[in-house]
Amino acid sequence: MNKEKSGFSRRGFLKTAGIAGIGSMLSVDSFAKISEQFAQSAGDGIVPKRAFGKTGENVPILGLGGMFDIPSNQLLMKQAVKWGVTYWDTADCYEGGNSERGIGMYFEKYPEETKQIFLVTKSDARDPDGMSSLLYRSLERMKTSYVDLYFIHGISSIDELDNKTKNWVEKTKAAKKIRFFGFSTHSNMEDCMTGAARLGWIDGIMMTYNFRLMHSDRMKRAVEVCEKAGIGLTAMKTQGGGQVKTSSETELRMAGRFMKNGYTDKQARLKAVWENHYIASICSQMPSINILMSNASVAMDRTKFSSVDIDLFRRYAGETSGAYCLGCTNICESAVAGTAPVGNLMRCLMYSRNYNEQGWAREIFNKIPVADRERILKLDFSPAEQKCPQQMEIGKLIKEACFELS
Ligand code: SF4
Repeated sequence: MNKEKSGFSRRGFLKTAGIAGIGSMLSVDSFAKISEQFAQSAGDGIVPKRAFGKTGENVPILGLGGMFDIPSNQLLMKQAVKWGVTYWDTADCYEGGNSERGIGMYFEKYPEETKQIFLVTKSDARDPDGMSSLLYRSLERMKTSYVDLYFIHGISSIDELDNKTKNWVEKTKAAKKIRFFGFSTHSNMEDCMTGAARLGWIDGIMMTYNFRLMHSDRMKRAVEVCEKAGIGLTAMKTQGGGQVKTSSETELRMAGRFMKNGYTDKQARLKAVWENHYIASICSQMPSINILMSNASVAMDRTKFSSVDIDLFRRYAGETSGAYCLGCTNICESAVAGTAPVGNLMRCLMYSRNYNEQGWAREIFNKIPVADRERILKLDFSPAEQKCPQQMEIGKLIKEACFELS
């Protein structure tokens, strides 16, 4: 039978099954059934741990990102603990504070589990008073007297941290409100990481890191200097911008190869990141038991990627690079003299289009005042486009972001 005519082809099957991911493949929806399947496939049933820099802490290689409705998903949190996903990442702003409140609900219900959790939250403030005020609010919401790791949220330059920050960190650690300190970054990550290593008082960093970024010399150097400085690293945005429309042979070879080895493309992308043993953990948004199970099972899988797998990823990244913003905002934003938050707008589009997180995309977008949006729409982005290493159509994309998210 002609497979193309029957509506079924190898290409079509690989793209559907291998690329679409486990979410579309799982037919079971009962919690008990999923747990049973998982138990059969997952060895000792606990996500392994790695050292987090020189902190002396070992953290699970898979962390639970808290950008979802935690109050309504307490069962998922319970299951995460059961599978050893005990690194929990949240922020004062996630879900309008409900992410932290949901964690508080959990700790109130299961106080004996509090000590098992490596708890991370973040501050949108930069000044010491603002940071104290947000930290105390976070502690109150989460019903805890301390957090393990406190991040300044989303820096784009190491200059956002100074001696006042350092003093605040020392004081707050001495008061036993935070154990470790650092920052998250999705803009100019490599520069921020290198700058942190020079500072000498940063314990941990969460940065955008995936199969697209990990092979660049700049990122390799940044990871190396952090390793030397003993800074613990957590990777985020590990799916590399999600699915890209392409029909390259490399994509098909990847899909076929990973399927044969029992991985979905999403799982394979996680495995590619874990290949770098200095990445202590991956922070992953897992708002359903299916996703949690899929990610936890691949975290427990001890099979190593071969050089062929890594090379396929490198080639695939090269062939599909044009659609992915590298976060090098010091290039495009300086080209328009800092008059537009290009990186934030690209991030909004990525959340909305690639991760199907329109709510979070709008939350970031709505922080741009309406008057600024109107001004930004009139700007000429051609100087930024000429310098963009990905040759992204910045002006067009910004217009689309404003249209789609307003
Ligand atoms: S738009 Fe281009 S220059 Fe700007 S951050 Fe993205 S990849 Fe870098």
